[in-house]
Amino acid sequence: MCRTCSLFNTRTNAVPGDGSSVLKAMLVGEAPGRSEDQLGTPFVGKAGKILDNILRTTGINRSQLYITNIVKCRPPHNRKPKSIEVMACRMYLNREIAVLKPRIIGLMGRTAYSTLIGGNGFSSSRGQILEINGQSYFITFHPAAAIYNKTIKESLRIDFTKLAFELGLK
Ligand code: SF4
Repeated sequence: MCRTCSLFNTRTNAVPGDGSSVLKAMLVGEAPGRSEDQLGTPFVGKAGKILDNILRTTGINRSQLYITNIVKCRPPHNRKPKSIEVMACRMYLNREIAVLKPRIIGLMGRTAYSTLIGGNGFSSSRGQILEINGQSYFITFHPAAAIYNKTIKESLRIDFTKLAFELGLK
């Protein structure tokens, strides 16, 4: 089990990515939460249920996607991962991308955006599909942001409908 950064001290389980590459699409969140830490599987808590619901209603089959996070271990009290932790864990994300060669990478939230694209352009890029250095990126909110915000949930639905069209599912 990885002990490269200090998050190993507080995790219950490391949470590797999960899913398949059938659709050649990968979704990337920020970090595991409490449920994910307990079960060792990404996006199985409240945010995961929102994501499942949005995928279902937009015609995307979760089992055909690969879903992962920027860091694979839960930060204490769900705080944002520190830069040093993001850098330490980047080798795993790089490997996931190298092996799966996703046609499109969905960046869910600012941490995923700033880690893979860099800069502060999340708000102006949200809802778009960008082509950068030969890789397509789909930019959207992190589903956790929709837990208490119906407007964000609706925006997620609109964004994922766009992704479904891009994947040829609509
Ligand atoms: S967060 Fe990543 S680098 Fe840090 S201990 Fe977990 S798997 Fe290793």
